[in-house]
Amino acid sequence: MTMKLATRATRIAPSPTLNMAASVKRMVAQGEKIIDFSAGEPAFETPEFIRDAAIAAIREGFTHYTPVTGIDELKEAILDKCLADHGLRYEKSQVLVSCGAKHALYNLAQVLLEEGDEVILPTPYWVSYPDQIALAGARTVLLPTEEVHEYAIDPEALEARITPRTKAIILNSPGNPTGAVYSRRILEEIATLALRYNLLIVSDEIYERMVYDKREHVSIASLAPEVQARTVLVNGVSKTYAMTGWRIGYAVGPTDLIAAMGHLQSQSTSNPTSIAQKAAVAALRGDQSVVQEMVRALDDRRQCMVKRLQAIPGVQCPVPGGAFYAFPNISELIGRRHANGTIANPSDLVAYLLSKAGIACVPGEPFGSTSHIRLSYTPDVPCIEEGMDRFEAAVKALMEA
Ligand code: PMP
Ligand code: GLU
Repeated sequence: MTMKLATRATRIAPSPTLNMAASVKRMVAQGEKIIDFSAGEPAFETPEFIRDAAIAAIREGFTHYTPVTGIDELKEAILDKCLADHGLRYEKSQVLVSCGAKHALYNLAQVLLEEGDEVILPTPYWVSYPDQIALAGARTVLLPTEEVHEYAIDPEALEARITPRTKAIILNSPGNPTGAVYSRRILEEIATLALRYNLLIVSDEIYERMVYDKREHVSIASLAPEVQARTVLVNGVSKTYAMTGWRIGYAVGPTDLIAAMGHLQSQSTSNPTSIAQKAAVAALRGDQSVVQEMVRALDDRRQCMVKRLQAIPGVQCPVPGGAFYAFPNISELIGRRHANGTIANPSDLVAYLLSKAGIACVPGEPFGSTSHIRLSYTPDVPCIEEGMDRFEAAVKALMEA
């Protein structure tokens, strides 16, 4: 039987990043020697004290439904974090704990957006934003940003894209896939426009701890109380504490919006997993030196990968200031030939690198770029060195062909 799907279901595709990571894991399980730069997750173990908290929760029988929007203990830890890190005060009614930051963003799109609405999205962007916007029936308005300007938002270009239908702008700093970290000055200019044109600011700060070279992560909500009042902060424990599998993220923002997101969650997933919520409390309340250690290790990996990429002919790689992705420009390799064909776009290069060199990365197209590929520098340094040896040899073969 062929089932006619709802039109809404035809507007979205599976997540290209998760798809790529899953197929690489399958290949590795079959014994193929793939070096995986595709995964958007830290390669570290979840710290032991966090795992212990989950085990204790199981032993204590904390294994039933919790309040839909999260346990008070976790909401309080999130409120304390917002205050300690950004000087931001919120009420408990302004916090929603969801099954990952992605779920928080999904809930937000569903209760905020409808047909005819527009959302401004700086490009390159993380793959899930446009699909979530499309699923809600709204339209994504792309705001191109340039590599030469470190992907900073140009306020004039932003203003030019605002129409009476614009409802929100999505910010993701530090950003996936570019690693861009927005300066305070740029954030102030964005906030001024958001106030002038009555826009909601969606600030996805999931990579806030991964900033390098003494850069500072500024949470846009902390700029002024009137900015805080129109911002939804999205964050979670996935990246900071190497907890991608636990599925705990959260949104903090205007009470009415958070309440509506909670109603949707109440009729869809119910509460996020009870045990994972206890683990997240331990993560947020525990010794944060584990995070510093992970970030230090990521910084070494970042420097190693970027240095190696910069030395490869035909590859231009700016130094990413945050997150854990290198986003090299590979446009010089487009048009090059190899034994089985021609590299016509980033996807072809990624396919070539996988088959010829056994290294997995993600092409730029689903991030809105036809000139880049994305590599996670989460594997350890020896692994990155080996991957870069293979990358270099494969590109050399292309240049010589
Ligand atoms: N936002 C960005 C920019 C991301 O890269 C990710 C990674 N998956 C997420 C949100 C979602 O993270 P999670 O759902 O694991 O909390
Ligand atoms: N955010 C990560 C990535 O971009 C994980 C996969 C996903 O959720 O898209 O690869």
